[in-house]
Amino acid sequence: MNINENYKNLEESYLFSTVAKKVNEFIQKNPDKKVIRLGIGDVTRPLCKAVIDALHKAVDEMGVQSTFRGYGPEQGYEFLRQAIQKYYKKRNVELELDEIFISDGAKSDIGNILDIFSTKNTVLVPDPVYPVYVDTNVMAGRKVIFSDANGNNGFLPLPDENINADIIYICSPNNPTGAVYNKEQLRKWVEYALKNKAVILFDAAYECFISDESLPHSIYEIEGAKNCAIEFCSLSKTAGFTGTRCGYTIVPKSHEKLNKFWLRRQTTKFNGVPYIIQRGAEAVFSESGQQEIKENINYYKENAKIISDTLEKCNISHTGGKHSPYIWLKCPNNMTSWEFFDYLLENIQVVGTPGSGFGKNGEGYFRLTSFGSKENTIEAMQRFEKLFK
Ligand SMILES: *Cc1c(COP(=O)(O)O)cnc(C)c1O
Repeated sequence: MNINENYKNLEESYLFSTVAKKVNEFIQKNPDKKVIRLGIGDVTRPLCKAVIDALHKAVDEMGVQSTFRGYGPEQGYEFLRQAIQKYYKKRNVELELDEIFISDGAKSDIGNILDIFSTKNTVLVPDPVYPVYVDTNVMAGRKVIFSDANGNNGFLPLPDENINADIIYICSPNNPTGAVYNKEQLRKWVEYALKNKAVILFDAAYECFISDESLPHSIYEIEGAKNCAIEFCSLSKTAGFTGTRCGYTIVPKSHEKLNKFWLRRQTTKFNGVPYIIQRGAEAVFSESGQQEIKENINYYKENAKIISDTLEKCNISHTGGKHSPYIWLKCPNNMTSWEFFDYLLENIQVVGTPGSGFGKNGEGYFRLTSFGSKENTIEAMQRFEKLFK
C-alpha cells in the first residue's frame, strides 16, 4: 500500500502541549503558587435545565418498547431541523428542511465537507485562525493560501481581486481574534465568491456571542449567499455542548450539486447523531432553553468585560470580547507571544494562549478567554493591574 504522504506536510502543533508542559513545570517548581488558566477554549458552565430535562426524558423513551428508536435519519430528525429552521426564520433567513444537516459538531463537518470538493481547488484561509481549516486541506493535498488579518484591517481581511481562490474560509466572530464582519464587509466576500465561482465555508460557531443586532449571525443574511456559501454552526459554545456533541450544517439547494453530493456523502459515511442528544439539542431552541443559554453566555460576557476593562486601564491594546468569548491583545513592550506567556506565568501565574499558535500574523499577540469562573477572572485581572499599571 501507499500511505497518504500529505500527512507528512502537516505542521506539528505544539501549541497546547507546550502550554501544558510549561505550566506543569512551573507548578512543580512553585507548588505554593496558584495558577489561573485563562487559556482554555472550552466552556465550563453546566448544561441548562431545559436540556437536562429533555435528555432525561429521551433516555426514558429509549427504555420503553413503544418509544424506542434505532437508526435515525442520517441528516437528523425532523423535530430538530424544524427547530433550527424556526431559529433562522427569526433573522429572516428562509431554509428548507432538507438544507439542514445535523452533525456531531462543527469540527467534523468542517473537515468532512471537503469530500465533495476536488483536491485541485485552491483554498484561502485567514491568518490567524482556528487551525482545523488548514490541516484538513493539507491532509487532502490542497494548495492553501492565506489572507492577512492584522491590526491594519481590524483582523477582518477583505477579498483581493488579484487572488484566485476556490474555497474560502470565514470565521465570524473569529477564533482567536474575536473580530466580527459587518454586513457590508460580508457582502464583499459574497460578491467575490459569486464572481469567481468560489464557495465560502462560513463558520458561525460563535454567532450567539454577537451583542450588536446589526451584525450578521449568519452569512445567509447577505443576499446571494445561498448561491455560494455553506454554513457550519455548533451548540458547543452556544449551549455548552462541547462534551455532548451536536451541531448543524446548512447546505443550500440553490447550488443543487452541493446539497445533493453532501446528502450522498452523509448517507454513505454517517449514521446520524444519537436520538437522545438531538432531543437535548431541540430543547436549546425552546423558549426556556434560549433564556437559559443566554444566562450562561452573559456570564462569559461579564468575564470578557472584566478582562477588557482591565486591559483598558493597563493601556494594553486589545480587540474582541464584545461579540466573542475571546480577548485578543497586543503583547506589551514588543514581546513575542511566547515571551509574554512566560512573563505572565512567572510574574502573576496567569495562563493564556500565545497568538503565534494560530498563524504567523498572531505573533506578538495573545489570547485570553472568558470561559473561566468569575472569581478566577477577577483575581487574574487584579494581578494584571498590579503588574502593568
Ligand atoms: C469550538 C469551535 C468550533 C466547534 O467545534 P465543535 O466540533 O462543534 O465542538 C468550530 N469552529 C471554531 C472556530 C471553534 O472555535
